[in-house]
Amino acid sequence: MELLEVRHLKKTYTNRFGTNQVQALRDVSFTIEEGEFTAVMGESGSGKTTLLNLLASFDRPTGGEIILNGLSFQNIREKDLASYRRKNLGFVFQDFNLLDTLSVKDNIFLPLVLAGAKPEEMKKRVMPLAKVLRIDDLMEKFPYEISGGQKQRTAIARALITEPRLVLADEPTGALDSRASNELLNMFEQINRAGQTILMVTHSTKAASHAGRVLFIKDGIVYHQIYRGDKSREE
Ligand code: ADP
Ligand code: ADP
Repeated sequence: MELLEVRHLKKTYTNRFGTNQVQALRDVSFTIEEGEFTAVMGESGSGKTTLLNLLASFDRPTGGEIILNGLSFQNIREKDLASYRRKNLGFVFQDFNLLDTLSVKDNIFLPLVLAGAKPEEMKKRVMPLAKVLRIDDLMEKFPYEISGGQKQRTAIARALITEPRLVLADEPTGALDSRASNELLNMFEQINRAGQTILMVTHSTKAASHAGRVLFIKDGIVYHQIYRGDKSREE
């Protein structure tokens, strides 16, 4: 089933004087099926963060359309965006974005707390997830007491706890050493095999090679895509 459709997406940034324009996305179209693990790969300045910000509905496009799970973002009112995001999307950032004042467990619970979930529900969900991510013995620790790799796995647990339709990851290995990066990417593959749809933005070839499909972006255009282990579908 098709989960995400991006149609002729455009984003132009204009400076506040209206004198200078940057076409960060020129005309980007692609679709993502439920259960896919897709990487968007490109160099710095190619438009990756812009694309992610639009998919996250943090920002509005200049043109084109994003349809997630049958609903066009255009049809969602501004005041409903936050709850729409909470229901459908999970986020993993390069710099983890964990709160140092909360334990690992409470960081993971945060999206559920915001969604008004019941404590029993939260407890039921957290341990199976923590086991998969191998942070189950860190639940009472604080972010400053754990390693970068453990922080990122905590961030992934927080992104998955709401059971989002789509996980958006922005350079998730950017702040990790190569061992922790590998571990994280293997974990993404494992989570994906269990059915989670993931879209990861990265400038790393190594990171992208773990995805089932790679979209290459340059100067605001997706100019190429490849599927892993299926050269016949290469275009
Ligand atoms: P990437 O994430 O691949 O590094 P970005 O999406 O951040 O690429 O940037 C794409 C282009 O848009 C770049 O030329 C960048 O300078 C420009 N850009 C990004 N954000 C803004 C902004 N808020 N205002 C003006 N230009 C921007
Ligand atoms: P880059 O991809 O250039 O390294 P970051 O990964 O730090 O940049 O952040 C990418 C973009 O995501 C930022 O420009 C910001 O607009 C957006 N962003 C990051 N965290 C949040 C957040 N918690 N809420 C809203 N927007 C965010």
